[in-house]
Amino acid sequence: MSLLRPRDVLAHVHDITPEFLAARGLRGLLLDLDNTLIPYGSYEERADVMAWAADLRRSGIRLYLLSNATGKRARFWIDKLGFEGVGMAGKPNPRAFRQGLRQLGLPAHQVGMVGDQVFTDVLGGNLAGMHTILVHPLVDNALPHTRVTRRLERAVLRRYGHDWRA
Ligand SMILES: [Mg+2]
Repeated sequence: MSLLRPRDVLAHVHDITPEFLAARGLRGLLLDLDNTLIPYGSYEERADVMAWAADLRRSGIRLYLLSNATGKRARFWIDKLGFEGVGMAGKPNPRAFRQGLRQLGLPAHQVGMVGDQVFTDVLGGNLAGMHTILVHPLVDNALPHTRVTRRLERAVLRRYGHDWRA
């Protein structure tokens, strides 16, 4: 298996339902923040995302935020979202993913890593032996280094048969 290949490719986290997770034997999720749950850099509350997370948690799904954002930004959103997590996780460093799994108290094969980036979320999740779920980025951030990364991601995903329009 290629370490850059996501197991599932979805348009939005809303496509992740309790039934979707049950069918894959998943009992917990490590969640990326920026461009996965919340538009990059935004501090605006998202009722739809809060409701989605609350629904999953009511179904017994364990959630943990694994973000490369600053600790302050991650903390802001952890307080809003109602579940634990960390900022400055250093993805794709496997240490971050091991820590997340410990927090969830679940083995890697029962946990999905959900994120919008191939080279951090998917690579790290695959290295940790998790089920990786790539979602379409909420906004196309215009940072020069991100543009290059997105081009590379599109090339990787095309190879796996995903037509990724970011
Ligand atoms: Mg992201």
